[in-house]
Amino acid sequence: MIKAITFDLDDTLWDIWPVVERAEILLHAWLTTRYPRIPERFTPLELRELSQEVIVACPEIAYDRTRLRKEALWLAARRVGYLEFDVESAFAVFFLARNAVEPFADVRPTLERLARHYMLASLSNGNADLRLIGLHDLFAFSLNAIDVGAAKPESLMFDRARQRLAVQPDQIVHVGDDPEHDVFGAAQAGFRTVWVNRTGRNWPGGLRADAEITTLVELEPVLTDWES
Ligand SMILES: [Mg+2]
Repeated sequence: MIKAITFDLDDTLWDIWPVVERAEILLHAWLTTRYPRIPERFTPLELRELSQEVIVACPEIAYDRTRLRKEALWLAARRVGYLEFDVESAFAVFFLARNAVEPFADVRPTLERLARHYMLASLSNGNADLRLIGLHDLFAFSLNAIDVGAAKPESLMFDRARQRLAVQPDQIVHVGDDPEHDVFGAAQAGFRTVWVNRTGRNWPGGLRADAEITTLVELEPVLTDWES
């Protein structure tokens, strides 16, 4: 019997990269008015890429995308000579815009139907805020890498979810777009796996998911099949 379904968020329930790019442009514009030497030196993409330098210097915070963004902004500020920098306000500009996502049309209706039969939870490596996005009412709880202290595919987030759901791992189905983070990670934790492949990608190799779907509408027939 399947008791619970856990969902990845970014690129599973909405497209994230166009939204991140827009958030980076808005942050860049905000910096122009408050700390102009930063956007004079760095493009939005170069600011994003500073996160990679932060990861190299501090690999232990790589799982925390909020901290990475803030540290990258600090790095940029220092490089152009700002000794004081309001990183919280800068991050808030990015964060608000990063949460202006548009869930795919199939998301809310499907989750509403599934929530009548299963416990639903979200498991994300990103820093999406389901309250800002307006889907929090559909999930029993939400975990992300920052709360847990480790990103998928590590088993910690899956193990925490299983403990909170208080069911056996094979009674949980994890649904996500990332072959490694979602499919491999959830399979390692003993969950059943569904790969959401909305864009017709080829499977990159390794053990395949228990099921593959192209939209969330296809999830319910898969579950019905497994329950019968
Ligand atoms: Mg994803």
